[in-house]
Amino acid sequence: MAGVWIFAENHERILELLNIGRQLAMKMETRVCVLICHKPERSEEYIRRGADEVLVLPPLAANQPLDAYIPVIAEESKKADPDIILISATSRGKDLAARIAARLNAGLCSGCMALKFDEESKTLIMERLAYGGAAVQKVTCTTRPVMATIPPKIFEPALPEEGRQGQIRELPASSPSAVQVLEIKLKERGTKDITEAKVVVSVGRGIDKKEDLALSRQLAEALGGEIACTRPISGELHWLPEELCIGLSGVQVKPDLYLGIGVSGQVQHVTGIRNAKVIAAVNKDKNAPIFKVADFGIVGDLYDVVPKLIAELKK
Ligand SMILES: Cc1cc2nc3c(=O)[nH]c(=O)nc-3n(C[C@H](O)[C@H](O)[C@H](O)COP(=O)(O)OP(=O)(O)OC[C@H]3O[C@@H](n4cnc5c(N)ncnc54)[C@H](O)[C@@H]3O)c2cc1C
Repeated sequence: MAGVWIFAENHERILELLNIGRQLAMKMETRVCVLICHKPERSEEYIRRGADEVLVLPPLAANQPLDAYIPVIAEESKKADPDIILISATSRGKDLAARIAARLNAGLCSGCMALKFDEESKTLIMERLAYGGAAVQKVTCTTRPVMATIPPKIFEPALPEEGRQGQIRELPASSPSAVQVLEIKLKERGTKDITEAKVVVSVGRGIDKKEDLALSRQLAEALGGEIACTRPISGELHWLPEELCIGLSGVQVKPDLYLGIGVSGQVQHVTGIRNAKVIAAVNKDKNAPIFKVADFGIVGDLYDVVPKLIAELKK
């Protein structure tokens, strides 16, 4: 049985992959199968949102890592022979995808930003960023199944459709994993998840000193948003934590409004904001590259402009 398989470790990512999986399956005149690792009660919802089949992976024991699913998915794939396997590029998803691809001896295109099925050549064309985000690389795969990982938030969640029907099947338990988890320590998070924020105020090197971050925080607060930053602010100056860095080596955000304060707009940063609905920027250099991608720009010193913006917003 051929088809498009999707796997993600959480509900939101499954819905995003269902959207693109369904679009591809319709063009290929095939089926969508979603593999889920928790909450089997959501199976019917996945069917309404585009799945033709839901494969419920066996529950993991407390000390079993997600990689226990690698042999299960690989074995099932060998039997069912899907055309395509799409996996969400969460940190564990990326690890899982590479190891499943190795077991299947299949090619894997990582970090795909777009997927198109060419009906003439019957080939999946995958697009990913190359040269630090300066170019788009088109990739086709010569092995079967075609495997790809897709960063979170690239696609909108699939919408429900009334009257859809599908099958639900439970997969057998896997053999014990070679890895045993001895202890789980949650990473300390002093910050909110900026990938979910509706408004993001991103701080760049235009800020003179760490104490001045307070100004950007006030602006973010006045806009009901979250603060984020460029790589130098987190990676070199260590003024903000790594998880707040936007861009190629940071996170992708998809807010309604992105506001860059003293951000030059180098391609490695802008790559992370290409899905923002509105991009605005404050920079004292009228030739700063950020103005090329911004919908709104203010040329001025952030130390003059930002207090005025805060005062206006508070009114
Ligand atoms: C492999 C690789 C991966 C990378 N990944 C990332 C990434 O994921 N994210 C990322 O952000 N960067 C990344 N970078 C770094 C990236 O190339 C840039 O160096 C970085 O984005 C620049 O940060 P910036 O805009 O804060 O600083 P700068 O480029 O120094 O820009 C500062 C801006 O502030 C303006 N300014 C200065 N003072 C004021 C003021 N008082 N008022 C208003 N404006 C002012 C200046 O005009 C300037 O435009 C990566 C680089 C490499 C090589």
